[in-house]
Amino acid sequence: MHAALVCIGKRRKMEATSMSDLIEIIYPQSMTAKLLQNGEVIAEYKVEQCDGCAKVMKLDPFGYKVGQAGEKLAWLCGGCR
Ligand SMILES: [Zn+2]
Repeated sequence: MHAALVCIGKRRKMEATSMSDLIEIIYPQSMTAKLLQNGEVIAEYKVEQCDGCAKVMKLDPFGYKVGQAGEKLAWLCGGCR
């Protein structure tokens, strides 16, 4: 089960937390991600590709640049805003 998950998505190890084993798996087809801690899914969320640095990051609605008619023009990650 875990091996299959890793094959589907991109595996990215988080360096920030040294105490626990956090792994983020991104599914580009559905633009969602799962956060695994010690092999267990602890969070699922939507992701978006930043129009500034092209990184795929956790979606946060404040990053949208919205046009006059309310349409979404672009999305920027926290580092590019
Ligand atoms: Zn960015």
